Amino acid sequence: MVASAQTPSSSSGNSKAAVQEQPEQSSNLSSTQNSDSPTKTKPPKLCQVCGDKAKSFHFGGLSCDSCKAFFRRSVHNDAYKGFHCVYQRNCEISISSRKSCQACRFKKCLAIGMETNWVMTEEERSQLQKQR
Ligand SMILES: [Zn+2]
Ligand SMILES: [Zn+2]
Repeated sequence: MVASAQTPSSSSGNSKAAVQEQPEQSSNLSSTQNSDSPTKTKPPKLCQVCGDKAKSFHFGGLSCDSCKAFFRRSVHNDAYKGFHCVYQRNCEISISSRKSCQACRFKKCLAIGMETNWVMTEEERSQLQKQR
């Protein structure tokens, strides 16, 4: 004869159930989630050297992958020092003509702000990878 009171006395009224309701403060303090990429409305970027499509800046200048590779290759083996224009060093560089004159293409790379000392040598690159 053990009188064990097992009555669940926890639910004795839902008097304060709405306490945890979060106030919806949609103020403009943190409204950065709507505009994730402000570059959406801008026109497509073009390579400042040849006019091809460019994704981003390379070595300080807005350039396409082709011009980026050309610039890096030229700097890597100091090939740019041997570039020679057969005309007046004022060739027009476009997508179709960018291969015809390396001297003017490289000159244009520099003109749009690309820096030779931003190009890492293979040695520097491997050293960076070792550090990480
Ligand atoms: Zn280009
Ligand atoms: Zn030229």
